[in-house]
Amino acid sequence: MSDFLNRLRHAAGAGHIWENEPMNRHTTFRVGGPARYFVSPPGESELSAVLNLCRSEGMPFYILGNGSNLLIADRGFDGVMIEMGDGFSGIKKQGKEPGDDQTGEILIEAGSGALLSRIAREALSDSLTGFEFAAGIPGTMGGAVVMNAGAYGGEMRDVLVSVRVLEPSGEIHEIKASELELGYRKSCIPKREYVVLSAVIRLKRGDGALIREKMEDLAARRREKQPLEYPSAGSTFKRPEGYFAGKLIEDAGLRGYRNGGAQVSEKHCGFVINRDNATAQEILDLCRIVQDKVFASSGVCLETEIKMLGFEENQERK
Ligand SMILES: Cc1cc2nc3c(=O)[nH]c(=O)nc-3n(C[C@H](O)[C@H](O)[C@H](O)COP(=O)(O)OP(=O)(O)OC[C@H]3O[C@@H](n4cnc5c(N)ncnc54)[C@H](O)[C@@H]3O)c2cc1C
Repeated sequence: MSDFLNRLRHAAGAGHIWENEPMNRHTTFRVGGPARYFVSPPGESELSAVLNLCRSEGMPFYILGNGSNLLIADRGFDGVMIEMGDGFSGIKKQGKEPGDDQTGEILIEAGSGALLSRIAREALSDSLTGFEFAAGIPGTMGGAVVMNAGAYGGEMRDVLVSVRVLEPSGEIHEIKASELELGYRKSCIPKREYVVLSAVIRLKRGDGALIREKMEDLAARRREKQPLEYPSAGSTFKRPEGYFAGKLIEDAGLRGYRNGGAQVSEKHCGFVINRDNATAQEILDLCRIVQDKVFASSGVCLETEIKMLGFEENQERK
């Protein structure tokens, strides 16, 4: 066993490390080669120890949420994949119980590994409104904060109060949402190399029946418009100002366009899907074909929303 692996076991605890873990098991695209080391730290001290080890050894690492916005290369990732999983999935209401609160506002703290769908279900069961928009986004709290995820007129920025982050120095700080430079599908978190540990959102007391109705309506709209029957990472491209990516792609004649097993969805052109055992390279190449053809037909540069990992550096351009 390598010395590094020994030390990684010591840092994360045995039973929390896998070698050569296939990443197609951990991404919604269902593609991606093996991560040399895959670690799911059971708590903050183990996470911190793993990060310290990677940094001191110059070992590349990557933080993984639910892998729903991620394209990992077929050759995999030659480093340590750090999953924010069960050890970071707690959800608790802060302060008063909903029934006691005078302002009607309730703070919920969720671990970065908690799934948005679960947080939304808990909010519903307490008749808390404001998080309905996120119920159908298949990501974690951490990934959603990093991406400022949003849908149907709502986004994380609307409800986020603060985040607890582990800084590269190893210190833990609470940072206000207003300091995170939250914009359209972006934040300053990657640039500052923060690891999100947990986040606090502010919701309001509402009518349980109406909250349920809204969630069901949004879920039905997703099923109707989105190719949920195929693996994907959601909207592949960001919405360019003044346009809709899907419409530009359709107008470029690319509805249903295939590259090997990858395809521009026939149902929603803004989604590149893994139609039939696609490789990550086929998906990436299709993204580039779409960008080139859309630019040729409309003059608009489409930027990918999905994050890329493990490709040659020049292939990871947006
Ligand atoms: C069918 C489908 C529908 C979708 N619909 C929507 C939608 O409506 N709106 C929308 O905004 N998105 C949507 N998405 C995209 C995706 O679900 C979101 O971007 C989501 O927020 C990503 O969360 P994740 O936990 O999966 O993050 P990942 O994909 O695992 O990671 C995304 C990025 O965040 C970083 N990251 C993750 N966790 C942490 C952490 N704790 N600390 C620091 N960095 C971290 C990762 O390193 C990576 O750079 C959809 C995806 C699919 C497959």
